Amino acid sequence: MNNLEEYKNKRDFKKTKEPKATIKKKKQKSLIYVIQKHNASNLHYDLRLELNGVLKSWAIPKGPSTDPSQKKLALPTEDHPIDYANFEGIIPEGEYGAGSVIVWDTGTYRNLKDDISLEKSLEKGKLEIFIEGKKLKGAYVLLKTGKKSDKNQRWLFIKMKDKYADARRNPVKSEPRSVISNKNIEDLEKD
Ligand code: MN
Repeated sequence: MNNLEEYKNKRDFKKTKEPKATIKKKKQKSLIYVIQKHNASNLHYDLRLELNGVLKSWAIPKGPSTDPSQKKLALPTEDHPIDYANFEGIIPEGEYGAGSVIVWDTGTYRNLKDDISLEKSLEKGKLEIFIEGKKLKGAYVLLKTGKKSDKNQRWLFIKMKDKYADARRNPVKSEPRSVISNKNIEDLEKD
């Protein structure tokens, strides 16, 4: 279910400049993919995928990989509004997620399966998608692990084998800057 209640409840929009909680259906068919680098109490990467008017979200503590042998832990977080995809800035001290955010990668994604919808795939805990970002490209899988009854869901974000897979590349290290402002996290914090 898409729900921005949790997003709204966690934030004080008088204090943070983050986008308000609005569900927004777009006219274009292409679906937004974005990864934000978020230097909160722990540095992490927020993967967000547009679905039915919101951004489904996962926090990837160590960031994504282009190497199919690397299984990256991805912890589901609350749905975010579509407008969040362009958000860069500083979430003030004392607010939820306090710290700086840059748009580390952005583009579009699509379902790789034609026999199962994205909604159903999410429910089942296995999402196979094709990402067309500026840094990440090609097939990826998001896989729910552990028992169904587990409260704290853990997912894995894994590059699938294709021509874009590259074990030698490490964009988290070699390409730290924002794809929209060319700033890095440290620049934001200095401003
Ligand atoms: Mn975050």
